[in-house]
Amino acid sequence: MTPPALARLAIHEAAALLASGGASSVELTQAVLERIDAVDDRVSAFVTVTRELALEQARAADARIASGDAGPLTGAPMQLKDNMCTLGVRTTCSSRMLEDFVPSYDAAAARRLYDQGAVLVGKGNLDEFAMGSSTENSAFFPTRNPWDTDRVPGGSSGGPAAAVAADECMFALGSDTGGSIRQPAALCGVVGLKPTYGLVSRYGLIAFASSLDQIGPITKDVTDAAIVLNAIAGYDPRDSTSINRSPPDYTLALKGGVRGLRVGVPKEYFVDGMEPGVEKAVRDAIGTLEELGAVVTDISLPMSPYAMAVYYILAPSEASANLARYDGVKYGFSAQDASSMWDALEKTRQHGFGPEVKRRIMLGAYALSAGYYDAYYLKAQRVRTLIRRELDAAFEKIDVIAAPTSPSVAFRQGAKMDDPVQMYLNDVFTQPANIAGIPAISIPGGMSEGLPVGLQLMAPHLGEPTLLRAAHAYEQATQWRAMRPPLVPNG
Ligand code: GLN
Repeated sequence: MTPPALARLAIHEAAALLASGGASSVELTQAVLERIDAVDDRVSAFVTVTRELALEQARAADARIASGDAGPLTGAPMQLKDNMCTLGVRTTCSSRMLEDFVPSYDAAAARRLYDQGAVLVGKGNLDEFAMGSSTENSAFFPTRNPWDTDRVPGGSSGGPAAAVAADECMFALGSDTGGSIRQPAALCGVVGLKPTYGLVSRYGLIAFASSLDQIGPITKDVTDAAIVLNAIAGYDPRDSTSINRSPPDYTLALKGGVRGLRVGVPKEYFVDGMEPGVEKAVRDAIGTLEELGAVVTDISLPMSPYAMAVYYILAPSEASANLARYDGVKYGFSAQDASSMWDALEKTRQHGFGPEVKRRIMLGAYALSAGYYDAYYLKAQRVRTLIRRELDAAFEKIDVIAAPTSPSVAFRQGAKMDDPVQMYLNDVFTQPANIAGIPAISIPGGMSEGLPVGLQLMAPHLGEPTLLRAAHAYEQATQWRAMRPPLVPNG
Protein backbone atom coordinates (compact mmCIF):
# COMPACT_ATOMS: atom_id res chain seq x y z
CA MET A 1 0.00 0.00 0.00
CA THR A 2 1.27 3.51 -0.79
CA PRO A 3 1.96 5.87 2.14
CA PRO A 4 -1.06 8.12 1.33
CA ALA A 5 -3.32 5.05 1.24
CA LEU A 6 -1.91 3.88 4.58
CA ALA A 7 -2.50 7.30 6.15
CA ARG A 8 -6.11 7.19 5.01
CA LEU A 9 -7.03 3.98 6.87
CA ALA A 10 -9.39 3.76 9.81
CA ILE A 11 -8.17 2.01 12.97
CA HIS A 12 -10.12 -1.19 12.29
CA GLU A 13 -8.79 -1.35 8.73
CA ALA A 14 -5.19 -0.77 9.84
CA ALA A 15 -5.48 -3.33 12.65
CA ALA A 16 -6.33 -6.05 10.15
CA LEU A 17 -3.40 -5.04 7.96
CA LEU A 18 -0.96 -4.94 10.90
CA ALA A 19 -2.15 -8.31 12.17
CA SER A 20 -1.66 -9.93 8.76
CA GLY A 21 1.81 -8.43 8.36
CA GLY A 22 0.66 -6.34 5.39
CA ALA A 23 2.22 -3.26 6.99
CA SER A 24 4.11 -2.39 10.16
CA SER A 25 3.30 0.31 12.68
CA VAL A 26 6.56 2.02 11.73
CA GLU A 27 5.37 2.19 8.10
CA LEU A 28 1.97 3.43 9.17
CA THR A 29 3.48 6.05 11.47
CA GLN A 30 5.90 7.18 8.79
CA ALA A 31 3.02 7.50 6.33
CA VAL A 32 1.14 9.70 8.78
CA LEU A 33 4.24 11.81 9.51
CA GLU A 34 4.76 12.25 5.74
CA ARG A 35 1.17 13.36 5.43
CA ILE A 36 1.72 15.92 8.22
CA ASP A 37 4.78 17.19 6.30
CA ALA A 38 2.73 17.38 3.11
CA VAL A 39 -0.34 19.24 4.36
CA ASP A 40 0.07 20.69 7.82
CA ASP A 41 1.59 23.96 6.61
CA ARG A 42 -1.93 24.60 5.25
CA VAL A 43 -4.05 22.92 7.93
CA SER A 44 -2.04 23.85 11.07
CA ALA A 45 -3.64 21.14 13.17
CA PHE A 46 -0.57 20.49 15.34
CA VAL A 47 0.96 22.56 18.13
CA THR A 48 3.67 19.92 18.54
CA VAL A 49 4.68 16.97 16.33
CA THR A 50 6.28 14.18 18.37
CA ARG A 51 8.21 12.51 15.57
CA GLU A 52 10.91 10.75 17.62
CA LEU A 53 8.51 9.54 20.29
CA ALA A 54 6.10 8.30 17.62
CA LEU A 55 8.72 6.20 15.85
CA GLU A 56 9.94 4.80 19.16
CA GLN A 57 6.38 3.87 20.17
CA ALA A 58 5.75 2.42 16.70
CA ARG A 59 8.79 0.15 17.03
CA ALA A 60 7.50 -1.00 20.42
CA ALA A 61 4.07 -1.62 18.87
CA ASP A 62 5.63 -3.74 16.12
CA ALA A 63 7.43 -5.81 18.74
CA ARG A 64 4.15 -6.27 20.55
CA ILE A 65 2.34 -7.33 17.37
CA ALA A 66 5.15 -9.81 16.62
CA SER A 67 4.76 -11.32 20.08
CA GLY A 68 1.02 -11.80 19.58
CA ASP A 69 0.05 -9.31 22.30
CA ALA A 70 -1.68 -6.68 20.15
CA GLY A 71 -5.04 -5.01 20.70
CA PRO A 72 -7.10 -3.07 18.15
CA LEU A 73 -5.19 0.16 18.86
CA THR A 74 -1.68 -1.26 18.89
CA GLY A 75 0.39 0.71 16.41
CA ALA A 76 -2.33 3.26 15.54
CA PRO A 77 -1.03 6.85 15.16
CA MET A 78 -3.04 9.37 17.22
CA GLN A 79 -3.15 13.03 18.10
CA LEU A 80 -4.19 14.31 21.53
CA LYS A 81 -5.78 17.70 22.04
CA ASP A 82 -3.19 19.91 23.68
CA ASN A 83 -5.15 20.29 26.91
CA MET A 84 -4.35 16.70 27.94
CA CYS A 85 -1.18 16.22 29.95
CA THR A 86 1.53 14.12 28.34
CA LEU A 87 4.60 13.19 30.34
CA GLY A 88 7.66 14.90 28.88
CA VAL A 89 5.68 16.41 25.97
CA ARG A 90 4.82 20.10 26.07
CA THR A 91 1.13 20.67 26.87
CA THR A 92 0.14 24.24 26.08
CA CYS A 93 -3.68 24.54 26.03
CA SER A 94 -2.78 26.79 23.06
CA SER A 95 -2.10 29.53 25.62
CA ARG A 96 0.91 31.75 26.27
CA MET A 97 0.27 30.87 29.91
CA LEU A 98 1.36 27.25 29.34
CA GLU A 99 3.54 27.72 26.28
CA ASP A 100 6.54 26.05 27.93
CA PHE A 101 4.70 23.71 30.30
CA VAL A 102 5.99 20.13 30.23
CA PRO A 103 3.85 17.87 32.46
CA SER A 104 5.40 15.36 34.82
CA TYR A 105 2.58 12.87 34.31
CA ASP A 106 0.18 11.51 31.67
CA ALA A 107 -3.55 12.17 31.57
CA ALA A 108 -5.43 8.98 32.41
CA ALA A 109 -6.93 8.76 28.91
CA ALA A 110 -3.51 9.19 27.28
CA ARG A 111 -2.04 6.54 29.58
CA ARG A 112 -4.79 4.05 28.68
CA LEU A 113 -4.13 4.57 24.99
CA TYR A 114 -0.37 4.18 25.43
CA ASP A 115 -1.04 0.98 27.38
CA GLN A 116 -2.96 -0.32 24.36
CA GLY A 117 0.01 0.48 22.13
CA ALA A 118 -1.33 3.61 20.41
CA VAL A 119 1.32 5.91 18.95
CA LEU A 120 1.41 9.65 19.70
CA VAL A 121 2.23 11.70 16.60
CA GLY A 122 1.53 15.04 18.25
CA LYS A 123 -0.62 17.47 20.17
CA GLY A 124 -3.62 19.19 18.59
CA ASN A 125 -4.32 22.90 18.39
CA LEU A 126 -7.38 24.29 20.21
CA ASP A 127 -9.03 27.51 21.18
CA GLU A 128 -7.10 28.79 24.20
CA PHE A 129 -8.16 26.74 27.25
CA ALA A 130 -10.87 25.17 25.01
CA MET A 131 -12.88 28.41 24.92
CA GLY A 132 -14.23 28.94 21.44
CA SER A 133 -15.86 27.37 18.40
CA SER A 134 -13.37 28.04 15.60
CA THR A 135 -9.83 27.40 16.91
CA GLU A 136 -9.09 31.02 16.05
CA ASN A 137 -8.66 31.71 19.79
CA SER A 138 -5.44 29.67 19.83
CA ALA A 139 -2.67 31.97 21.05
CA PHE A 140 -0.34 30.47 18.41
CA PHE A 141 -2.16 30.21 15.06
CA PRO A 142 -5.60 29.30 13.73
CA THR A 143 -6.26 25.79 12.41
CA ARG A 144 -7.88 25.61 8.97
CA ASN A 145 -10.60 23.37 7.63
CA PRO A 146 -9.20 20.69 5.28
CA TRP A 147 -12.35 20.97 3.12
CA ASP A 148 -11.63 24.65 2.45
CA THR A 149 -8.61 26.24 4.10
CA ASP A 150 -10.25 29.69 4.02
CA ARG A 151 -12.72 28.32 6.55
CA VAL A 152 -12.56 27.37 10.24
CA PRO A 153 -12.50 23.74 11.39
CA GLY A 154 -14.81 24.53 14.31
CA GLY A 155 -13.62 24.34 17.86
CA SER A 156 -12.41 24.09 20.37
CA SER A 157 -11.03 20.68 19.25
CA GLY A 158 -10.30 22.10 15.79
CA GLY A 159 -6.79 20.63 15.63
CA PRO A 160 -7.96 17.07 16.39
CA ALA A 161 -10.95 17.22 14.00
CA ALA A 162 -8.92 18.74 11.16
CA ALA A 163 -6.06 16.28 11.71
CA VAL A 164 -8.41 13.28 11.48
CA ALA A 165 -10.15 14.70 8.40
CA ALA A 166 -6.82 15.44 6.68
CA ASP A 167 -5.35 11.97 7.48
CA GLU A 168 -2.69 13.56 9.69
CA CYS A 169 -3.51 10.97 12.34
CA MET A 170 -5.72 7.91 12.45
CA PHE A 171 -7.77 9.17 15.41
CA ALA A 172 -7.65 11.82 18.09
CA LEU A 173 -8.99 12.65 21.52
CA GLY A 174 -10.86 15.88 22.05
CA SER A 175 -12.64 17.41 25.02
CA ASP A 176 -16.22 18.65 25.00
CA THR A 177 -17.56 21.19 27.50
CA GLY A 178 -20.33 22.67 25.35
CA GLY A 179 -19.77 21.04 21.96
CA SER A 180 -16.03 21.07 21.40
CA ILE A 181 -15.81 17.50 20.11
CA ARG A 182 -19.06 17.39 18.14
CA GLN A 183 -19.09 20.80 16.45
CA PRO A 184 -15.57 20.53 14.93
CA ALA A 185 -16.27 16.90 13.98
CA ALA A 186 -19.38 18.13 12.14
CA LEU A 187 -17.55 20.95 10.37
CA CYS A 188 -14.69 18.67 9.32
CA GLY A 189 -16.84 15.70 8.24
CA VAL A 190 -15.63 13.17 10.85
CA VAL A 191 -17.14 11.34 13.83
CA GLY A 192 -17.04 12.95 17.29
CA LEU A 193 -18.42 11.36 20.45
CA LYS A 194 -19.01 13.10 23.76
CA PRO A 195 -19.49 10.30 26.28
CA THR A 196 -21.70 10.39 29.38
CA TYR A 197 -20.32 12.74 32.05
CA GLY A 198 -18.03 10.64 34.25
CA LEU A 199 -17.51 7.75 31.79
CA VAL A 200 -13.98 8.81 30.79
CA SER A 201 -11.53 9.94 33.46
CA ARG A 202 -10.50 13.58 33.28
CA TYR A 203 -7.41 13.08 35.40
CA GLY A 204 -4.77 15.13 33.59
CA LEU A 205 -7.25 17.07 31.44
CA ILE A 206 -6.60 20.76 32.06
CA ALA A 207 -9.88 21.91 33.59
CA PHE A 208 -12.18 24.44 31.92
CA ALA A 209 -15.67 23.91 33.43
CA SER A 210 -15.55 20.85 35.64
CA SER A 211 -19.26 20.09 35.82
CA LEU A 212 -19.39 19.92 32.00
CA ASP A 213 -15.96 18.77 30.70
CA GLN A 214 -15.70 15.34 29.13
CA ILE A 215 -13.03 13.62 26.99
CA GLY A 216 -14.02 11.64 23.89
CA PRO A 217 -12.87 10.21 20.55
CA ILE A 218 -12.69 11.93 17.17
CA THR A 219 -12.46 9.25 14.49
CA LYS A 220 -12.90 8.48 10.81
CA ASP A 221 -15.91 6.25 11.40
CA VAL A 222 -18.30 4.95 14.04
CA THR A 223 -16.55 1.58 14.47
CA ASP A 224 -13.37 3.45 15.42
CA ALA A 225 -15.30 5.57 17.93
CA ALA A 226 -16.40 2.36 19.68
CA ILE A 227 -12.83 0.99 19.63
CA VAL A 228 -11.37 4.15 21.17
CA LEU A 229 -14.18 4.43 23.72
CA ASN A 230 -13.46 0.84 24.81
CA ALA A 231 -9.90 1.90 25.58
CA ILE A 232 -10.61 5.12 27.48
CA ALA A 233 -13.89 4.43 29.35
CA GLY A 234 -13.90 3.12 32.89
CA TYR A 235 -13.53 3.96 36.54
CA ASP A 236 -10.63 6.03 37.80
CA PRO A 237 -10.47 6.93 41.51
CA ARG A 238 -8.32 9.98 40.65
CA ASP A 239 -11.34 11.70 39.06
CA SER A 240 -13.99 12.12 41.75
CA THR A 241 -16.75 12.31 39.12
CA SER A 242 -15.73 9.00 37.53
CA ILE A 243 -18.55 6.45 37.25
CA ASN A 244 -17.73 3.35 39.30
CA ARG A 245 -19.10 0.69 36.99
CA SER A 246 -17.42 -1.42 34.34
CA PRO A 247 -18.38 -0.37 30.83
CA PRO A 248 -19.58 -2.86 28.20
CA ASP A 249 -17.68 -3.74 25.00
CA TYR A 250 -18.92 -0.94 22.76
CA THR A 251 -17.92 -2.69 19.55
CA LEU A 252 -20.56 -5.34 20.31
CA ALA A 253 -23.18 -2.60 20.26
CA LEU A 254 -22.52 -1.64 16.64
CA LYS A 255 -24.61 -4.34 15.03
CA GLY A 256 -28.35 -4.60 15.27
CA GLY A 257 -29.64 -1.74 13.17
CA VAL A 258 -32.39 0.71 14.02
CA ARG A 259 -35.56 -1.27 13.31
CA GLY A 260 -38.07 -0.22 15.95
CA LEU A 261 -35.71 2.36 17.49
CA ARG A 262 -37.74 5.35 18.72
CA VAL A 263 -36.17 8.54 17.38
CA GLY A 264 -37.39 11.91 18.64
CA VAL A 265 -36.90 15.04 16.55
CA PRO A 266 -37.19 18.16 18.72
CA LYS A 267 -38.76 21.10 16.92
CA GLU A 268 -36.65 23.56 18.94
CA TYR A 269 -33.55 22.31 17.08
CA PHE A 270 -34.77 23.65 13.76
CA VAL A 271 -34.61 27.36 14.39
CA ASP A 272 -34.91 30.49 12.29
CA GLY A 273 -31.48 31.53 11.18
CA MET A 274 -30.09 28.07 10.67
CA GLU A 275 -28.79 27.40 7.20
CA PRO A 276 -31.41 25.85 4.89
CA GLY A 277 -28.80 23.46 3.47
CA VAL A 278 -28.07 22.17 6.97
CA GLU A 279 -31.75 21.74 7.78
CA LYS A 280 -32.34 19.85 4.53
CA ALA A 281 -29.37 17.52 5.03
CA VAL A 282 -30.39 16.71 8.60
CA ARG A 283 -34.05 16.13 7.66
CA ASP A 284 -32.91 13.82 4.85
CA ALA A 285 -30.67 11.97 7.30
CA ILE A 286 -33.59 11.49 9.67
CA GLY A 287 -35.60 10.23 6.66
CA THR A 288 -32.88 7.65 6.06
CA LEU A 289 -33.15 6.46 9.67
CA GLU A 290 -36.90 6.08 9.12
CA GLU A 291 -36.34 4.07 5.92
CA LEU A 292 -34.04 1.82 7.93
CA GLY A 293 -36.94 1.04 10.26
CA ALA A 294 -36.66 3.66 13.01
CA VAL A 295 -39.89 5.07 14.39
CA VAL A 296 -39.51 8.82 14.04
CA THR A 297 -41.69 11.22 16.03
CA ASP A 298 -41.70 14.98 16.44
CA ILE A 299 -41.12 16.06 20.00
CA SER A 300 -40.84 19.34 21.85
CA LEU A 301 -38.17 20.32 24.37
CA PRO A 302 -39.28 23.81 25.35
CA MET A 303 -36.40 24.30 27.79
CA SER A 304 -33.71 23.87 25.13
CA PRO A 305 -33.56 27.54 24.09
CA TYR A 306 -32.38 28.36 27.64
CA ALA A 307 -29.38 26.03 27.42
CA MET A 308 -27.12 28.66 25.94
CA ALA A 309 -27.86 31.21 28.67
CA VAL A 310 -27.32 28.55 31.34
CA TYR A 311 -24.07 27.45 29.72
CA TYR A 312 -22.68 30.97 29.47
CA ILE A 313 -23.28 31.54 33.19
CA LEU A 314 -22.07 28.17 34.48
CA ALA A 315 -19.08 27.55 32.19
CA PRO A 316 -17.47 30.98 32.78
CA SER A 317 -18.20 30.74 36.53
CA GLU A 318 -16.39 27.43 36.77
CA ALA A 319 -13.63 28.68 34.48
CA SER A 320 -13.03 31.74 36.65
CA ALA A 321 -12.39 29.39 39.59
CA ASN A 322 -10.36 26.82 37.62
CA LEU A 323 -8.12 29.44 36.02
CA ALA A 324 -7.32 31.14 39.33
CA ARG A 325 -4.40 28.71 39.64
CA TYR A 326 -2.45 30.48 36.88
CA ASP A 327 -0.73 32.95 39.15
CA GLY A 328 2.81 32.82 37.76
CA VAL A 329 4.08 31.05 40.87
CA LYS A 330 3.30 27.35 40.60
CA TYR A 331 3.80 26.79 36.88
CA GLY A 332 3.45 28.40 33.50
CA PHE A 333 4.20 31.92 32.37
CA SER A 334 5.44 34.33 35.01
CA ALA A 335 5.87 38.07 34.43
CA GLN A 336 9.37 39.11 35.45
CA ASP A 337 9.14 42.91 35.28
CA ALA A 338 6.94 43.37 38.35
CA SER A 339 7.37 45.71 41.28
CA SER A 340 5.37 43.72 43.84
CA MET A 341 3.58 40.42 44.29
CA TRP A 342 0.24 41.88 43.21
CA ASP A 343 1.83 43.57 40.24
CA ALA A 344 3.38 40.21 39.26
CA LEU A 345 0.01 38.47 39.50
CA GLU A 346 -1.68 41.12 37.40
CA LYS A 347 1.00 41.21 34.71
CA THR A 348 1.18 37.41 34.53
CA ARG A 349 -2.54 37.14 33.87
CA GLN A 350 -2.60 40.20 31.62
CA HIS A 351 0.07 38.82 29.28
CA GLY A 352 -0.56 35.10 29.79
CA PHE A 353 -4.25 35.02 28.83
CA GLY A 354 -5.83 36.02 25.52
CA PRO A 355 -8.96 38.15 25.10
CA GLU A 356 -11.58 35.35 25.10
CA VAL A 357 -10.16 33.76 28.25
CA LYS A 358 -10.20 37.15 30.00
CA ARG A 359 -13.79 37.70 28.86
CA ARG A 360 -14.84 34.36 30.37
CA ILE A 361 -13.02 35.02 33.67
CA MET A 362 -14.73 38.41 33.96
CA LEU A 363 -18.16 36.99 33.11
CA GLY A 364 -17.71 34.19 35.62
CA ALA A 365 -16.33 36.35 38.43
CA TYR A 366 -19.27 38.70 37.93
CA ALA A 367 -21.87 35.90 37.98
CA LEU A 368 -20.37 34.53 41.19
CA SER A 369 -19.92 37.85 43.02
CA ALA A 370 -21.88 38.81 46.11
CA GLY A 371 -25.19 40.35 45.11
CA TYR A 372 -25.27 38.63 41.70
CA TYR A 373 -24.76 35.02 42.73
CA ASP A 374 -28.47 34.35 43.34
CA ALA A 375 -29.60 36.18 40.24
CA TYR A 376 -27.18 34.47 37.87
CA TYR A 377 -25.31 31.43 39.13
CA LEU A 378 -28.03 30.01 41.34
CA LYS A 379 -30.73 30.67 38.79
CA ALA A 380 -28.67 29.02 36.06
CA GLN A 381 -28.25 25.96 38.29
CA ARG A 382 -32.01 25.77 38.73
CA VAL A 383 -32.65 26.02 35.01
CA ARG A 384 -29.99 23.35 34.50
CA THR A 385 -32.08 21.00 36.62
CA LEU A 386 -35.16 21.78 34.52
CA ILE A 387 -33.29 21.04 31.29
CA ARG A 388 -32.05 17.75 32.68
CA ARG A 389 -35.53 16.74 33.90
CA GLU A 390 -37.07 17.62 30.56
CA LEU A 391 -34.57 15.37 28.75
CA ASP A 392 -35.09 12.55 31.30
CA ALA A 393 -38.84 12.77 30.67
CA ALA A 394 -38.35 12.74 26.89
CA PHE A 395 -36.23 9.59 27.12
CA GLU A 396 -39.13 7.75 28.73
CA LYS A 397 -40.84 7.80 25.33
CA ILE A 398 -37.94 7.75 22.88
CA ASP A 399 -34.54 6.05 22.62
CA VAL A 400 -32.50 8.72 20.84
CA ILE A 401 -32.85 12.35 19.86
CA ALA A 402 -31.82 13.28 16.31
CA ALA A 403 -30.90 16.89 15.51
CA PRO A 404 -28.34 19.01 13.72
CA THR A 405 -24.94 19.31 15.43
CA SER A 406 -24.43 22.90 14.35
CA PRO A 407 -26.71 25.48 12.71
CA SER A 408 -24.18 26.15 9.93
CA VAL A 409 -21.45 24.54 7.88
CA ALA A 410 -17.85 25.69 8.35
CA PHE A 411 -17.73 29.49 8.20
CA ARG A 412 -14.96 31.72 6.90
CA GLN A 413 -11.91 32.52 8.97
CA GLY A 414 -12.49 35.81 10.76
CA ALA A 415 -16.25 35.92 10.07
CA LYS A 416 -17.32 35.73 13.72
CA MET A 417 -14.24 36.91 15.60
CA ASP A 418 -15.63 40.38 16.30
CA ASP A 419 -18.96 39.16 17.59
CA PRO A 420 -18.75 36.79 20.57
CA VAL A 421 -22.51 36.15 20.60
CA GLN A 422 -22.47 34.96 16.97
CA MET A 423 -19.57 32.70 17.90
CA TYR A 424 -21.40 31.39 20.99
CA LEU A 425 -24.47 30.56 18.85
CA ASN A 426 -22.49 27.75 17.18
CA ASP A 427 -23.12 25.58 20.20
CA VAL A 428 -26.86 26.03 20.74
CA PHE A 429 -27.53 22.43 19.72
CA THR A 430 -24.62 20.81 21.52
CA GLN A 431 -24.79 22.43 24.97
CA PRO A 432 -27.92 20.63 26.26
CA ALA A 433 -26.07 17.26 26.31
CA ASN A 434 -23.30 18.75 28.49
CA ILE A 435 -25.81 20.44 30.76
CA ALA A 436 -27.66 17.13 31.25
CA GLY A 437 -24.48 14.99 31.28
CA ILE A 438 -25.82 12.67 28.57
CA PRO A 439 -23.88 11.14 25.64
CA ALA A 440 -24.09 12.62 22.15
CA ILE A 441 -22.40 11.87 18.85
CA SER A 442 -21.90 13.83 15.64
CA ILE A 443 -21.54 11.84 12.42
CA PRO A 444 -21.27 12.95 8.80
CA GLY A 445 -24.89 13.50 7.77
CA GLY A 446 -24.72 15.04 4.31
CA MET A 447 -23.23 17.98 2.46
CA SER A 448 -24.26 21.58 1.91
CA GLU A 449 -22.40 23.96 -0.41
CA GLY A 450 -19.69 21.32 -0.80
CA LEU A 451 -19.07 21.24 2.96
CA PRO A 452 -19.91 18.54 5.52
CA VAL A 453 -23.03 18.68 7.71
CA GLY A 454 -23.15 16.89 11.08
CA LEU A 455 -26.05 14.74 12.25
CA GLN A 456 -26.22 14.74 16.04
CA LEU A 457 -27.70 11.86 18.04
CA MET A 458 -28.23 12.03 21.81
CA ALA A 459 -29.11 9.20 24.19
CA PRO A 460 -29.90 8.97 27.91
CA HIS A 461 -27.23 8.57 30.61
CA LEU A 462 -24.86 5.69 29.68
CA GLY A 463 -26.78 5.14 26.44
CA GLU A 464 -23.58 4.92 24.34
CA PRO A 465 -24.45 1.43 23.01
CA THR A 466 -27.73 2.70 21.54
CA LEU A 467 -26.04 5.81 20.20
CA LEU A 468 -23.30 3.82 18.49
CA ARG A 469 -25.76 1.31 17.06
CA ALA A 470 -27.93 4.04 15.51
CA ALA A 471 -24.91 5.96 14.24
CA HIS A 472 -23.39 2.83 12.72
CA ALA A 473 -26.64 1.86 10.98
CA TYR A 474 -26.88 5.32 9.43
CA GLU A 475 -23.22 5.34 8.41
CA GLN A 476 -23.50 1.93 6.73
CA ALA A 477 -26.54 3.06 4.76
CA THR A 478 -24.88 6.21 3.39
CA GLN A 479 -21.81 7.18 1.40
CA TRP A 480 -20.61 10.24 3.38
CA ARG A 481 -17.70 8.38 4.92
CA ALA A 482 -16.21 7.92 1.44
CA MET A 483 -16.10 11.66 0.74
CA ARG A 484 -12.65 13.18 1.28
CA PRO A 485 -11.51 16.78 1.65
CA PRO A 486 -9.91 18.02 -1.61
CA LEU A 487 -6.56 18.68 0.02
CA VAL A 488 -3.72 18.06 -2.40
CA PRO A 489 -0.30 17.28 -0.93
CA ASN A 490 2.66 19.60 -1.55
CA GLY A 491 5.19 18.92 -4.27
N1 GLN B 1 -17.71 26.68 22.10
C1 GLN B 1 -18.04 26.50 23.50
C2 GLN B 1 -17.29 27.53 24.31
O1 GLN B 1 -16.73 28.37 23.75
C3 GLN B 1 -17.72 25.11 23.93
C4 GLN B 1 -16.29 24.88 24.17
C5 GLN B 1 -15.98 23.50 24.63
O2 GLN B 1 -16.80 22.58 24.52
N2 GLN B 1 -14.80 23.35 25.18
O3 GLN B 1 -17.24 27.49 25.51
